[in-house]
Amino acid sequence: MAELASYAVNESSSRGRKIAEAAPHGRSEFQRDRDRIIHSNAFRRLEYKTQVFVNHEGDLFRTRLTHSIEVAQIARSIARSLHLNEDLAEAISLAHDLGHTPFGHAGQDALNACMKAYGGFEHNLQSLRVVDMLEERYATFDGLNLCFETREGILKHCSAENAAQLGELGERFQNNRRPSLEAQITNLADEIAYNNHDVDDGLRSGLLTLEQLASVPLVAKHLEEVRHAYPGLAERRVVHETVRCMIGTLVTDLIQQSEHNIGKQGLAALEDVRNAPPLIAFSTEMIEQQRALKKFLHTNLYRHYRVMRMSAKAQRIISDLFGIFMGDSRLLPPQFQRQAEQDCARAVADYIAGMTDRYAIREHRRIFAVEEVTVGF
Ligand code: MG
Repeated sequence: MAELASYAVNESSSRGRKIAEAAPHGRSEFQRDRDRIIHSNAFRRLEYKTQVFVNHEGDLFRTRLTHSIEVAQIARSIARSLHLNEDLAEAISLAHDLGHTPFGHAGQDALNACMKAYGGFEHNLQSLRVVDMLEERYATFDGLNLCFETREGILKHCSAENAAQLGELGERFQNNRRPSLEAQITNLADEIAYNNHDVDDGLRSGLLTLEQLASVPLVAKHLEEVRHAYPGLAERRVVHETVRCMIGTLVTDLIQQSEHNIGKQGLAALEDVRNAPPLIAFSTEMIEQQRALKKFLHTNLYRHYRVMRMSAKAQRIISDLFGIFMGDSRLLPPQFQRQAEQDCARAVADYIAGMTDRYAIREHRRIFAVEEVTVGF
């Protein structure tokens, strides 16, 4: 790895793991974190969890797995170009969505509503529960025993109430301090990735058209450039070229603005990052352009009647499952029954959050279908 900036996260000054372990051979501490994340059950399940579209609607749509890989790719490029810790940015990116429920935002909203009286459900916190407790793979500890800096990056936001219960990880929310620049990068790489792939998937699904999208300045600019440079180009290639250029523009803008912010702040060490305002940022102009794109996607894609129908179905599945397990915890698989003896609602939420889209659909059918069930037990 190229020389790191003095304010980058450096593994030699890491706050380490909850349970001390011998240093890894042939890889860095953050590479070890990345490897543990990739080998986890929750990571594999991301393949069958959706962002906007439900997994079985088409093989070409993004899933949470491909989304996480795209976030990692974008975050690594930015980290490398700012002389920050690429391995850490990659590890945080790959873990950032591990706590997501099935059925994307509809699923998260539904589970949060079910959990309202029991402390709520928040996917960031759930990602942390996955890496801190829920994975059962290692002989000597629960979870993945990741480094502090990776766990800190996973916990993007958090309520004051939850922060108070999180010990050293919650401190920055209480003291209004910032996480590492690597964590800040991952947060915005996530935004770049999903805005752009939602455009791409929206077009592929036919729910959006290029004509509609031409009303969004960020898209219109690149669309015009591509059409001008390559007259007669097939429509699919026009879309890919446009999305590719949009990602490039956003990444370049983010790097330039962040370099400017970092320079102005005169950072010397990681501690300065924590005391400074957020430094990884888009330019004011790009924030405006991104806002227009998000607004467009919200109105035309996330609120499209076909997406809304699927969301309604998803919410019903989640609340039905939650209701029946809360009513009778003996219906839960054995490991969750044991957890339910301590805290039934949290055990049910952990079980449901871990489900893939298709598993949730099957589980719903197994429990509620009165006709002959062909999905197997
Ligand atoms: Mg994400």
